[in-house]
Amino acid sequence: MSTPAPDLPFLPFLPFALPDIGEEEIAEVVDTLRSGWVTTGPKAKRFEADFAAWLADAAGGPSAVASSELHCIAVNSATAGLHLALEALGIGPGDEVITTTHTFTATAEVVRYLGAEVRLVDIDPATLNLDPALVEAAITPRTKAILPVHYGGLAADMPAILAIARRHGLKVVEDAAHALPSSSAGRLVGTLDSDATVFSFYANKTMTTGEGGMLVCRDPALASRARVMRLHGMSRDAFDRFTATVPSWYYEIVAPGFKYNLTDIAAALGIHQLRKAHRFAAQRAVIAARYRAELADLPLTTAPQPPAGQQHAWHLFPVRLSDAAAIHRDSLIERLFAAGIGVSVHYIPLHQQPYWRDRHGLRAEDFPHSQRAYERMLSLPIYTRMTEADVSRVVDALRRLM
Ligand SMILES: *Cc1c(COP(=O)(O)O)cnc(C)c1O
Repeated sequence: MSTPAPDLPFLPFLPFALPDIGEEEIAEVVDTLRSGWVTTGPKAKRFEADFAAWLADAAGGPSAVASSELHCIAVNSATAGLHLALEALGIGPGDEVITTTHTFTATAEVVRYLGAEVRLVDIDPATLNLDPALVEAAITPRTKAILPVHYGGLAADMPAILAIARRHGLKVVEDAAHALPSSSAGRLVGTLDSDATVFSFYANKTMTTGEGGMLVCRDPALASRARVMRLHGMSRDAFDRFTATVPSWYYEIVAPGFKYNLTDIAAALGIHQLRKAHRFAAQRAVIAARYRAELADLPLTTAPQPPAGQQHAWHLFPVRLSDAAAIHRDSLIERLFAAGIGVSVHYIPLHQQPYWRDRHGLRAEDFPHSQRAYERMLSLPIYTRMTEADVSRVVDALRRLM
């Protein structure tokens, strides 16, 4: 077991992340349990409608989108949502999809589910998001889609990525697992001009349903394919062609679909988490501002800041040690844990992971910015249940150890 560094006071362990679940969520889950309907049903439907309205409301302003234009499809994970989006876009064997090496494997694995290939590209060291110039350079005749990740909650350069996609006739699916709520050029992620956007409600994300995700798109055909594939490839639409009334028992199987539906128990959590999403974001922004101010004189680079007026979801607060730092990243992490502070690393880049590295013969020197960032970075705790004292504790520990 680790013991605290002698100069740091012993305090209970401060976790890296904690969900923020209130009495409203608990009451809604209990109501679901008592209702007798525990799997996908009325609450999942309400969560989808609420999500569309929330995106439309929050988008607001001159770029307003009507909630009726947004199709929201609740799924049991963001991974499932990404898989459904790419499937509905027709990605398959022989196709290539471009994404960032600096992400979690879920972003890329869904491409392999469909038998297509992943082309990893390096990041812009200033934003830690995929570099549009490298995206364009990686396009081949087989490229079908670009899969940007809004790393940490800072939107990728969507105007540039969407322009490249238009020039080359490519699809764009946003991995928005960190991006609730984030904006790009004044527009909320989820309402941009991509083909689909996928949010995650995993336990440590900015809002949670335990496990869950939301696929958002504008194209009704894409939405209807994803809805059918979400649940076994079952469709009731085929019957409609012949008669006005579909008997309740009737369905047709039109494809070998998946089992990706969100339960009403999970949706009950989502309905109330969503209502708190802006408050949660404001609380994380306060923590981010404190870290930025109070760590400014240390030999490290704090998390990239958004351009003025652009909303950052602050899912992560990564810092990168400078060359001048007297302590190595690994020992800093070890000593923070010894001081009872949970930190993490986002991410061990995909080009370092045996599956991706060996499949494509990837070398660290081909991804210099991601590699350099990875070797020097750690993510500090940033979540709504942290107290001011918790933030001070992280700051003090870093100041002493560095
Ligand atoms: C969490 C995460 C996912 C997967 O989300 P799940 O809901 O757990 O499937 C995908 N991409 C990124 C970048 C993530 O952080």
